[in-house]
Amino acid sequence: MILLMESLSAQTPPSNFVWTCGTTEEEASESAQTATPESPICTDPNAVKYIRVAFHFIRAEHFFVRSVYDDCLVNPPVYRTYIGYGNFTANSDGNGDLTYNGYQRAEDIVAKANEELAQNQKQWRETPGISYPATAPANPLRYVLTGVYFHANDIAFDPDFSTAAIHTAYDVGGNEVLDVYCINNEYEPWNGQGLGGASTNKYVFLNDYFIYLRPNCREWSTQFSGSSLNHEIGHSLSLRHTWDVDDLCNDTPKGYIYDQIPPTGGCIQNQYANCWKYDPGVPGCPKKPCDEWHKVSNNIMDYNQYYYHAYTECQLARIHNSLTGQGNTYIHSCNGCAPSNAFFDIRGPVKVCPEQSPTYVWLEGQACHNENRYLIEICTVDDSAPDDCLSGYWNSGWQTGTVGRINLATLYNFLPNRTYRISLKVDNTECPGSHEYVRLLYTEDCDVPVPPCCIGLSVAPNPFNAELTIYWEAPEEALLSFSLVHLFTNQITPLRSPAPTPVGPQQQTWSTSALPSGNYVLHTWYAGQHYSQNLVKL
Ligand SMILES: [Zn+2]
Repeated sequence: MILLMESLSAQTPPSNFVWTCGTTEEEASESAQTATPESPICTDPNAVKYIRVAFHFIRAEHFFVRSVYDDCLVNPPVYRTYIGYGNFTANSDGNGDLTYNGYQRAEDIVAKANEELAQNQKQWRETPGISYPATAPANPLRYVLTGVYFHANDIAFDPDFSTAAIHTAYDVGGNEVLDVYCINNEYEPWNGQGLGGASTNKYVFLNDYFIYLRPNCREWSTQFSGSSLNHEIGHSLSLRHTWDVDDLCNDTPKGYIYDQIPPTGGCIQNQYANCWKYDPGVPGCPKKPCDEWHKVSNNIMDYNQYYYHAYTECQLARIHNSLTGQGNTYIHSCNGCAPSNAFFDIRGPVKVCPEQSPTYVWLEGQACHNENRYLIEICTVDDSAPDDCLSGYWNSGWQTGTVGRINLATLYNFLPNRTYRISLKVDNTECPGSHEYVRLLYTEDCDVPVPPCCIGLSVAPNPFNAELTIYWEAPEEALLSFSLVHLFTNQITPLRSPAPTPVGPQQQTWSTSALPSGNYVLHTWYAGQHYSQNLVKL
């Protein structure tokens, strides 16, 4: 990653903030450009439609031990023991590999899913009397990754914790972003299945890590998770399983009727086969389900695990109807090319103490999508008007390539006790419309300790995770209240309503598992005085 080093003195912001891809800055400045319209309605059923997806990797707060069974391409199967937090992190694969992380995983799964969509297959099992096109119809559905988030939450691994509760805790973008939750929960050990929210505020679950952990399944796991993503998003766009229910499509026949031998023995006659694998050795009593190729299905809403899948004309029409109806808010663009999307994470508040150690301000831009150039802008702002640059303006100029991970402190001289506005614009020069993402960064002086509050306030732990305890000792009885404010979303979480505190040492503990991770300010009001303190939730 090489960035052109520019003068750190204040520069004039470019007069035109959004350039059209493929044009020079001079051409662009002649006519002001606007970004791609939000949620366009794509009335043309053949127009390629990109819908927004965000990935969430949920890991445990404590190490756990799992037995992993690997039967991919190996016989006999291999058993291994996994010890770890149970998911990809921002910095590693959660399994000792620092060269692969959750950002890359999310991009890889989305890329595989899009590859499958772009290579729609001809339906194998056909309904007699229905005419099928000579070649598979084009599937115009695609995904654009709009964010990757990491959460640590033991409660999410509890058998009683519902998928809906996870979505309530971590939803981003409401009806504009489809949330994909990756969690390896042994109580819901599906291989990549999930629950599709078929109505608004859509979300799906993937149990991707469970397969990734098997060394011999690793390469296949990306394709399988991409297919599983397509299957689950198919549910959320009104598609149903084809083999055993009426899916409202005539061109997706139900499964072959066979006689099933259950694991407990006996024979259950006249079952619908959900054949995902040609297997002449499968038992039957006597009718076998998958011993001939005409019984095997490659439809996306069946469970075939080894081939790119088929979406039929009827299924594609149902997806189109869904995306011109209730699902329209999820559409990012329908101009037929791969839109760029800017996203980055940055951890703050950053302590700036150049005399003691170098400053690190990591911009984690690995979840940016489809970009081939990017532009970073930094300036100081006032919290009350975060869009208005006050001073210290700097920009990187357009840089070629993908964003990746950048230490901004090597490019910009951050000062303590400031609020910085950091903007990232990305561009795919093959696809018009730049995309911008902005976050605020707070800096602190490492030499100045937080002045103690009048009531001996202390908070532990900081950073906090599942729980937060506040200790105080009031010299006199007076009204006391606490609230937490998330610095990025400004979401306010009241901890204690104003109430008289007794004199003497007190403590109170709150469960904070459901709070999103990030930077918080703890606001304390005591006897009419206000105090604030920075906290970090992991
Ligand atoms: Zn399903």
